[in-house]
Parts: sequence; C-alpha cells; structure tokens
Amino acid sequence: MPTIDRRQFLVVGSLAALGIGLTACTTDGDWVAIEASALDDLRKRLHGTVLIPGDDGFTNAWMPTNGRYRDTVPMVVARVADETDVVACVNWAREHNIQPVPRGGGHNYAGLSTTTGLIIDLSKLNAVTIDTDAATMVTGGAASNGDIFGASTGGGLILPGGTCLSVGIGGLALGGGIGYHTRWAGLTADLLTGTRMVTASGDIALASASKNPDLFWASRGGAGGNFGINTEFTFDLVPVPTGDIVYYRFDWRGADAALAMFSAVDALEQTAPPEFVASGMAQATPVGADGPREAIDVMLRGQFLGSIDDFMSLIAPLLAAAPPAKQQIVAQPFWETAKIFTSAEATNHSWGDISRYTDAALPASALQKMVDLVVDTPSRTETDNAAMFMLGWVGGDVVDRFDRTETAYVHRGMKNMVRPSPVWSNTADAGVADDLMDWTDDVISVFDPHTPRESYQNFPNRRIDDWAQQYYAENLDRLIDVKAEWDPDNLFHSEQSIPTAAS
Ligand SMILES: Cc1cc2nc3c(=O)[nH]c(=O)nc-3n(C[C@H](O)[C@H](O)[C@H](O)COP(=O)(O)OP(=O)(O)OC[C@H]3O[C@@H](n4cnc5c(N)ncnc54)[C@H](O)[C@@H]3O)c2cc1C
Repeated sequence: MPTIDRRQFLVVGSLAALGIGLTACTTDGDWVAIEASALDDLRKRLHGTVLIPGDDGFTNAWMPTNGRYRDTVPMVVARVADETDVVACVNWAREHNIQPVPRGGGHNYAGLSTTTGLIIDLSKLNAVTIDTDAATMVTGGAASNGDIFGASTGGGLILPGGTCLSVGIGGLALGGGIGYHTRWAGLTADLLTGTRMVTASGDIALASASKNPDLFWASRGGAGGNFGINTEFTFDLVPVPTGDIVYYRFDWRGADAALAMFSAVDALEQTAPPEFVASGMAQATPVGADGPREAIDVMLRGQFLGSIDDFMSLIAPLLAAAPPAKQQIVAQPFWETAKIFTSAEATNHSWGDISRYTDAALPASALQKMVDLVVDTPSRTETDNAAMFMLGWVGGDVVDRFDRTETAYVHRGMKNMVRPSPVWSNTADAGVADDLMDWTDDVISVFDPHTPRESYQNFPNRRIDDWAQQYYAENLDRLIDVKAEWDPDNLFHSEQSIPTAAS
C-alpha cells in the first residue's frame, strides 16, 4: 500500500481548502480523490473534531508510538466525542470506500493502528467508573492504563493491566493484557464481562456471555481492529491484598550473571505459585574497557504476595546461583508496589520485538546461545541496541483456569515469555535497523526447536510469516467465522487482521 509524504499532504491539504479534493487510500488499496465536500459532510456528522494535514494537533492525533510506522500518514483524523460519532465515522468510511482504522493509545507494536485513510481517534472515550459494591469497572473504548490506574489506586479493587500508562484499554483487553498482576489476578481479557461495539454496518452490538456469545469469546484475545470498534468495556475487578506485599529488585552486570539469572528464573517459573511474579532483562550497553561480555546490564524485579521469609525461601536458588551486585527487598503496601510497575511512559523510537511463549524450561544450551547473542548485539549505542526479556507473567493456575479454547486468548498452559527487544532511534541508518532485526530473528531461531510456535498478539510483528497461527493457534478457525459474521466485507482490516475466510 503506498504511503504519502508530508509534502504531498500539504499539497492535497491546500487543494482541500480550495474545495478541489484530497487523495486517500481506499479500503482495497487503490487511490481515489475525495471531494472536500465529503470532508465537510464528515465534519457535519460529528460532535467531535475532524483534522487534516496542517491542522493543529493533527500529527499527535495519529502518530504511532512505534516510529517505524510514522510515515503512514492518514488523510483525515476524526477525534470522536462519543459513540454516535463512531457510528458516523464507520458509515462515512463505508460510503466513501475509505479504510477506517480505530486508534486507542496508538501503541500497537506493528503499527496496525495506522492507515492512509481515516483514523478514528477514540482517545476522548476515556471515562472510567468503578462500582465498589459490585466490584466492577466500566471504561470507555480508549481509557488508558493511566486513566484506569488513577481511578483505582488506593482502593480495594484492581483491574490487572499492563505497565505503560498510555496504552489504551481497547488494544490491551481485546488482545489479552498481561503484566505484573496477571499471575495472581488474571489477564485483563479474563476479567471482561461485556462490551459495546460499533459494527461494520454502523449498528451497535452488545457482547457478553449471554448476548452474542461468539463475539464476546472473540473479544477476549482476538485483538483490536478486527470485528468492529468497541466503545465501552465492563470488567469484574479483583480484590487487592490488604497487608504488605514484597517488592524486589536485583541488579547484576555481565553475561555470566545474565545466564545465571535467566536459568534460575526459568527454573522457578516452572513451579512458582501465582503469588510470585518476576520479569528479567539483560540489556547490551555501550562496550567499555572490560569488553562486550561485561557491558550488559542485568535486572530482575517483581513482587511476591506473601511474607519476606517465604519469598526468601522461594528465591534462594536464584540468589545462590547469581549473587546480585545490588538488591532491594521491601515489604510495603500493595499500591506502593503497583505504582512502580505501572509507571512507564512510551517514548517515540523504533523497535521490533518478537515474543515467544515457553511451555517448559529452556535447555541450558539455548539459554547459553541466547546470552551469547546478547553479547553479540550488532549495535550497542545509547539509542540503538537490544535487550532480552524473560517475562514470567504469563502462566500459573490463575491464567490456566481457562482452557485454551474457552476464550480467544489461546496461550494457556505456558510458563514464561521470552522476547528479544531491539530498539533504534527514528533517525538511525536503515542498516542499523536491518542488523538489529536480523539479530532478533537469530534469537528467535534459538527458541524455535524448544517452544510452541506461539507469539503474543499484543506484541505483533510484521516479520512473523505465520502470524495468524502463532497468535491464535487452534482458535483461528473460530475467529475467522466470527469475522465473517460481523465484518463480512472486511471493512476493518490491517496487515495482520483476521481474514474473513480461511486461506
Ligand atoms: C510501551 C509499550 C508498553 C506495553 N506494555 C504492555 C504490557 O505491559 N502488557 C501488555 O499486555 N501489552 C503491552 N503493550 C502492548 C499493548 O497491549 C498493545 O500494543 C495494545 O494493542 C495497545 O493498545 P492501544 O490502544 O494503545 O494501541 P492502538 O495502536 O491504538 O490499538 C491497538 C489495536 O487495537 C485496535 N483498537 C484500539 N482500540 C480499539 C477499540 N476500542 N475497538 C476496536 N479496536 C481497537 C487498533 O486499531 C489496533 O489494531 C505495550 C505496548 C507498548 C508500546
């Protein structure tokens, strides 16, 4: 699909001002001229705002967090004010054969909330209401983690979510939603009890266990941008621990410590109780006098919902294998710890993470190769480098209370998630990005023989050839059926959207 650069946009923008027309991508990838009158028509239909190139706020309204996709500039952004606006946008897009793409927080890893057509900016649909008696939460279709966290902090209930304040609930919940609270409280999607959706035909559909159960099933892991535009979500909430819990963080330096840490954490995750949560990372830093093996920052942090004594017993094998250079272990109220975990702010750079679930401990040889690859990271500057993550967020009895086909999120029975995480500045040479992505492929090929070929749909990557199988596995056929029923003409599509028919 062709993209349009900023200069071309200034041209088409001024043509629009003269009432001549704008160029946009159609729903099937061809190019058409859109009359300025069509834009006026959109403006008249909305309570919210219509933005075109050159308007104040235009760029912020569509710019994806992942800088790799910053050149896919939309023809028009509709910043909707309410659900009626969403209906109007969907109808307008269909009538004018323009690709409509919902945008919540804009954090999709693969830039799937970008288009050269119409961005439906849902950011104003960010209300959050908590009913403490019923232990439920109702959110707008694009409330952010920050909005939800702000409404919950200090109270007795939590919706388990992710780490980044600006991630939107639409993308997060529809694709799963994992984080530091998943192991004890469940996935965000697991707590979903109902949603309102604007369909491709511009109608409102409700989905819950009793209304449109297939659509409800698909809304719990089938990922955003597939079936319609969700304007509201209802969740059950989970009571938070009342006493102190354990927050911990350990730091090391060097490849040997990285190997010891990853090996010990991977072993722990095979049997650890849901109360134990760990996230480990080894980051290649600029090489100093001690050489590339030493220039690696290693970190493990997490929480334990129990006493410090029980935590120390659990973690003893790790501390014996890899005595930390620095350590912090504190008992503190739940929300003090939760604040540490939900504090990340997204920065605009480029990245290309690929995730893999594991369902058993990785062999020592694979972990060794993985760490050797961190040592051999092709670029190790402050801005262009790579890290290896091991996210022990994804398994345990609470996640596994659903079986693999009970919701569209299929990745049950998993123990861990490994994720090579390359990052580079938006102005880096293409060669830097290519080398880092080749490195990512090399890391994934180390895991290939030892893991199920399953990848998290909320960490999508356009490099994954069999992405539909990796994101949805045995749930793919049912998701295709739901797509065919709710969006038979494939109005809501992207590079990695669920197809309307099996290929
Ligand atoms: C810095 C960062 C940190 C992250 N941390 C975590 C984490 O801790 N845990 C985790 O599970 N994930 C995490 N993610 C991944 C995140 O969950 C997904 O990228 C999610 O899809 C982002 O949602 P969004 O609304 O912000 O993004 P968008 O790019 O706006 O949307 C994502 C997809 O959903 C669609 N969409 C958005 N809103 C709606 C809606 N209301 N109705 C229908 N479709 C919609 C979009 O069209 C797009 O296809 C992180 C991502 C980033 C960039």
